[in-house]
Amino acid sequence: MKRTYNFNAGPAAIPLAVLEKAQSELVDFNGTGMSVMELSHRSKPYEEVHNRAASLLRELMEIPEDYEVLFLQGGASLQFAMIPMNFLKDGASAHFIMSGVWSEKAQSEAGKLGSTTILATSKEDRYTYIPESFEDPEEGSYVHLTSNNTIYGTQWEKFPSTKLPLIADMSSDIMSREIDVSRFSLIYAGAQKNLGPSGVTVVIVKKEMLENANEGIPAILKYSTHSKQNSLYNTPPTFAIYMLSLVLEWMQDNGGLKAIEELNKKKASLLYSCIDQSGGFYKGHAEKDSRSAMNVTFTLKDENLTKAFLKESIEKGFSGLAGHRSIGGCRASIYNAVPLEACEALAEFMAEFQKKHE
Ligand code: PMP
Repeated sequence: MKRTYNFNAGPAAIPLAVLEKAQSELVDFNGTGMSVMELSHRSKPYEEVHNRAASLLRELMEIPEDYEVLFLQGGASLQFAMIPMNFLKDGASAHFIMSGVWSEKAQSEAGKLGSTTILATSKEDRYTYIPESFEDPEEGSYVHLTSNNTIYGTQWEKFPSTKLPLIADMSSDIMSREIDVSRFSLIYAGAQKNLGPSGVTVVIVKKEMLENANEGIPAILKYSTHSKQNSLYNTPPTFAIYMLSLVLEWMQDNGGLKAIEELNKKKASLLYSCIDQSGGFYKGHAEKDSRSAMNVTFTLKDENLTKAFLKESIEKGFSGLAGHRSIGGCRASIYNAVPLEACEALAEFMAEFQKKHE
């Protein structure tokens, strides 16, 4: 068996050990004589999987007691709409820190439901940095930021303190490092980058937020519906939650978030060093102090060379290195499940390619 060096941006690499465990249990899960996919979501064996995923998440992220952990569907994109539906108050504003296209989408959806303001943006500079300085608003419903910008390869290093509830889209860096959950009122992330396959969205929300949420919205779109029913209001994506539970076990077996963070830093610095030592052959998109440890974005001297690099990378067994269609260039997404060896192989390939084409 040959596994590809998978640098896809999402859906993305899943740890081999997780895939193998799922494979070994696929046809007969835990002596039930059926696959997890075939279990009733109201059955005891499934409930155990569901609750184990939630409790592992709590443990690994050190989520305080006064937060709910929810498993929803609709991706992070549904959260762009659900958050303002539930928390944007009449006559108040939702504040956005704009660090990329995903922040724009979040703001645009909120804007359809109420008033929004932009606190800071790096759009004029092609989102090459995190716009960290802004005036902290006293009034409004919440402040929203995107912790890691998948397309541009920028990442918040230190989160701001805000007077209003802070909400973060952590789709592309959740559980890649230790964070203090208590700084946030709501954290959300689609699973398909660091947590497993697509299909489930993790939401971590302060209970106090739910108590003050808007009424009069359809039940399925209300956070409190899901929290009251342990994310079993309707049929959840059972297989995706099962895979999530295996990924969380894998994280635990690998030393938890502290160890994962260290390894992620090592992986990223391998690739950034390669860029920095290339004498301009490779150019990073992000400014150095905003660089992401999850998505390494870069270009080569010209379009033809970039094309040649991408073509050769595929021939050499690397997958997913083309940049997002909106900015082009190259992007190596090095989420938790991408092993160090894959980054070492890529750094080696980059150095070789440079030697040949300089
Ligand atoms: N936010 C970020 C930061 C993302 O990277 C993505 C997907 N790439 C989304 C939101 C949208 O996620 P989904 O496809 O799960 O709706």
